[in-house]
Amino acid sequence: MTQNTDINPWDTTENLSSFNGSFPKTYKTKKVKKGINPVGKKTQEWEAARKELIKLFEAKGTTKCELQLEHCWKTKALGFAHRDKRRNLSVDDLNICILACNQCHSTIEAKPQEEMAKIIDDIIAKRSWTM
Ligand SMILES: [Zn+2]
Repeated sequence: MTQNTDINPWDTTENLSSFNGSFPKTYKTKKVKKGINPVGKKTQEWEAARKELIKLFEAKGTTKCELQLEHCWKTKALGFAHRDKRRNLSVDDLNICILACNQCHSTIEAKPQEEMAKIIDDIIAKRSWTM
């Protein structure tokens, strides 16, 4: 077997004569996203905002559900809950949110929008840190 001196040392398939029929383990099949549902602008904005929010919340030490309602999952399946449905939010509104587990998020989402907004406002007001 010839030693591969290629710049990509993991690529052992350059020379077919040395190909032993099995791919090296470092060849991971990349999951290519299909173009059926192109990512919308809103989703892209939210993805970017969400990344920043995760960093911020972690830095502030808010790493568990802020709602802590009945049957709260505490640190499992956490996400951000907003005052309104995301499609109704502007980019600035994206930062107005609380960290909520899936369970609590569903509970408050089932409430009327004004009530949900009030719950979120209250939590933000009582927080030890501000955005
Ligand atoms: Zn919770």
